Amino acid sequence: MDLVAELRALVGDNGVLTGERLAGRVYDKHVGSVAARVLVRPASTEQVSAVLRLCHSRGQPIVPHGGLTGLVYGCSARENEVILSLELLNRIESVDVAGRTLRVQAGVKLQHVQEEAERHNLMFPLDLGARGSATIGGNIATNAGGMRVVRYGMMRNLVLGLEVVLADGTVLQSLNRMLKNNAGYDLKQLFIGSEGTLGVVTRADLRLAARPVSACSAFVACRDFAAMVELLGMLDARLGGQLSAFEALWPEFYELTTTSPARSSPILPYGHGVYALIEALGADADTDRERFERVLSDAMENGLVADAVIAKSEADRNAMWAPREDVFQMDRYGTSHSFDVSLGIADMPRYLEAFHAALHAGFPGARSFVFGHVADGNLHIAVCAGDADVQSIEKCVYEPMRGFSGSISAEHGIGLERKPYLEISRSSAEIATMRALKAALDPRGILNPGKVIDVH
Ligand code: ZN
Repeated sequence: MDLVAELRALVGDNGVLTGERLAGRVYDKHVGSVAARVLVRPASTEQVSAVLRLCHSRGQPIVPHGGLTGLVYGCSARENEVILSLELLNRIESVDVAGRTLRVQAGVKLQHVQEEAERHNLMFPLDLGARGSATIGGNIATNAGGMRVVRYGMMRNLVLGLEVVLADGTVLQSLNRMLKNNAGYDLKQLFIGSEGTLGVVTRADLRLAARPVSACSAFVACRDFAAMVELLGMLDARLGGQLSAFEALWPEFYELTTTSPARSSPILPYGHGVYALIEALGADADTDRERFERVLSDAMENGLVADAVIAKSEADRNAMWAPREDVFQMDRYGTSHSFDVSLGIADMPRYLEAFHAALHAGFPGARSFVFGHVADGNLHIAVCAGDADVQSIEKCVYEPMRGFSGSISAEHGIGLERKPYLEISRSSAEIATMRALKAALDPRGILNPGKVIDVH
């Protein structure tokens, strides 16, 4: 029997898409090249297991797909590969209000989990611009970060337990709602951030937080980066743990996302050294707001903040976030290349200097835009350099990292795009251990082949 017929026998006609039914799916350019001719979409863990068992026995490579919002070509699929979509595993199974946990299937969208938590007066804190498309399975497979890492951590910190199907079809039942469980190795950690190369996540137990009732936001301008770092320390110390986002916008990025054709208009005048978007989430609207205003006015008095606007309404808050979230404005200058590096906050100015020097030496007309989650040590950099070859631009971003023990990927992962640069951030012993894990869990190399590391 051929592969498609065997897959249909396992998951039914509706579970296998080929020909026109597959061709109708349009893949965004950020996904990379998708040439696969078969998409299988199991509707249960048992079906995922059966599909993997079959593919394992045939040596058939598989590329798992979630919401396809990744940025490093982790979901690109060659002609001979089969796409495994988790889209039919789309149920939130239960919420434990007292224990503050939620059990969910992998294909549920992040936004649906956020909304379900809210219905129970709780919060699922992971938040990112792609919340309406990104799935929980994808968030886990890529260890997603986003806007609130400074307070709640990355996806890894929000996962208590997992159900994973291994390459040979074994169902690794590791669901767990307990906060503390030191009974041997914490196997779930192997799969969080493995980008579909070690197993396929099918279900998860997630950790919820209390739902904040107050949200204070401010958009501020600082004379320079040093003042902004001092401001961050002051907010962290004086907001009593309420600081939940601290996003920096360098002037070029701020001007880009507040001038036409961008829809936002400037919140504060141009000309300052750097801008920051601040959010504090708390439990008492009046006292939280009072404290927030007092801390910011002290920061203005002692010169850490040059200018500031505090949001007075939900509409104000949205208007403040809009320039930060409008991240594809640079496309107006042609092809843009996006990067996501991580390094010590104190090293950022020197790193950016080295990056700009390298970029302008190689590409005098290039434009670059910098923004990001500065409190997490995470910078996003976008470069527009006409039709300059990608590798030369990548080198301008990654080579200067060597001097700062930074990471070539803070939150986007490695996928295909960053694989050539992994050795900048990982030692040869680390990469050898990754290969040993891959060989142990996926001996026939069928899971997302070629992504993250090369096996040989
Ligand atoms: Zn980000």
